[in-house]
Amino acid sequence: MISKENITEESRLTIKNTVANQKVYFNTNATKDIKFRRLQLQKLLNIIKLNEGLLYEAIYEDFGKSEFVSYITELGLIYSEIKLAIKKLPKWSKRRKVGSDIANLPGRSFIEPEPFGVCLIIGTWNYPVQLSILPAVSAIAAGNTIIIKPSELASNSSKVMAEILNSAFDEQFLKVIEGGVDVSTELLKQKFDKIFYTGGSSVGKIVMKAAAENLCPVVLELGGKSPAFVLEDANLKMAAKRIAFGKFINGGQTCVAPDYILIKKEIKSKFIEELKTQIIKIYSSNPAESESFTKIINERHFQRLSKLIDRDKVVFGGDTDSDINYIAPTILDHVGWDDGVMQEEIFGPILPIIEFDNIDKVIKKVKERNKPLSLYIFSKSKKVINRINMEISFGGGMVNDTISYFANEKLPFGGVGYSGMGNYHGKFGFDTFSHNKSLLYKTNLFEPFIKYPPYTKSKLRIVRWLLE
Ligand code: NAD
Repeated sequence: MISKENITEESRLTIKNTVANQKVYFNTNATKDIKFRRLQLQKLLNIIKLNEGLLYEAIYEDFGKSEFVSYITELGLIYSEIKLAIKKLPKWSKRRKVGSDIANLPGRSFIEPEPFGVCLIIGTWNYPVQLSILPAVSAIAAGNTIIIKPSELASNSSKVMAEILNSAFDEQFLKVIEGGVDVSTELLKQKFDKIFYTGGSSVGKIVMKAAAENLCPVVLELGGKSPAFVLEDANLKMAAKRIAFGKFINGGQTCVAPDYILIKKEIKSKFIEELKTQIIKIYSSNPAESESFTKIINERHFQRLSKLIDRDKVVFGGDTDSDINYIAPTILDHVGWDDGVMQEEIFGPILPIIEFDNIDKVIKKVKERNKPLSLYIFSKSKKVINRINMEISFGGGMVNDTISYFANEKLPFGGVGYSGMGNYHGKFGFDTFSHNKSLLYKTNLFEPFIKYPPYTKSKLRIVRWLLE
């Protein structure tokens, strides 16, 4: 593993050489063969299946995530993404015939997806395997070579991914390079053809700046404060159940988790009671001992989150244990927009509740903030749902549920504004890692005289007549 603190000359050289070797390999055109790509995808599927146990153990060691949660939120998604790519690859990669404009007739026009080249994927820790490997599936499908830099915060997952992937793949095609900020920084100095970053917005800016040096296209999968609206006509029991699931799965360390609740004043007390019932039902009255409740990734995040719990506002939970980085599912009531907990993405099991009377004011408040990654609306009213959806820009969202839209590979996944740019999953991932090349074949049988000088008034009249 490459040093986390100070990058050594040897590590620097490894990074440089890997990028250079991948460039040479990409230029052999080997990755452009569809059979090759499908073979690599199959290999990836096999190697992950074979090492499933090791991956579960590593993720558990990182932050106590159960096998079930790891399957539904990490490996299960990877398996279905790989299988989909293997099946659809011939169709996705096919050149598409499109029409030609009048100036180019007679001619035949095509759009042909081509791989970018050498891609860098920088992963984060909250779903350490899925968020590093899912983009790699799309990058392989599109015919690129890939360097994956997993997050050092989930160090066990990073180590296992490096071991299993680096032993299965030729490093000139795919290599996992482990390390922290210094390794990331060194990688970002290299000339990539595409960079795909998942993580916080402040590092997103660093990535984009570094990419700009080489005019390298970037995808930024970032976070933000995702609101959940609960309106007076919502099915409160179902809303509480689905919010409890989406907020507290993975210990609240989910980019698409509802960050805070915006609720109509008259239903707030009833909703809070339902929410408490649901939390106890799924995690028991002592979540610290629940196998299904994930701990906080490290002490730094534990301390950060502990400070966000305003003791005067806790109406449920609030317990913490620094020995095991445990923070209980916590509900904060009577929260205002200026409270500390509303100033940053929570990314933990703390759920602030803001009550409102007037929907206009609350929509305005949300719009004053950065565009969220996700937004959830619990209501039966088409009018209100359409209004919120039309007025507020967000990456993606759901009506009457939380987070699971992420798993629908027919929907593009990605943020907007401060929550990111670009998207992936399914065909969208293939498109993200492909350049759409235009190609127009012309016939030699005919050449219009009007395109050549001298440019006369009568020629202009003809051109106008043709184009307008
Ligand atoms: P992190 O600390 O793991 O950082 C992410 C990656 O960036 C790591 O690989 C890290 O090594 C690298 N990095 C960190 N600092 C760097 C620097 N100065 N220069 C270059 N590289 C650097 O993750 P995080 O930022 O704590 O992640 C949490 C955030 O990620 C949250 O905001 C969350 O919402 C977001 N997130 C988004 C998605 C999504 O798909 N949109 C998914 C998961 C998490």
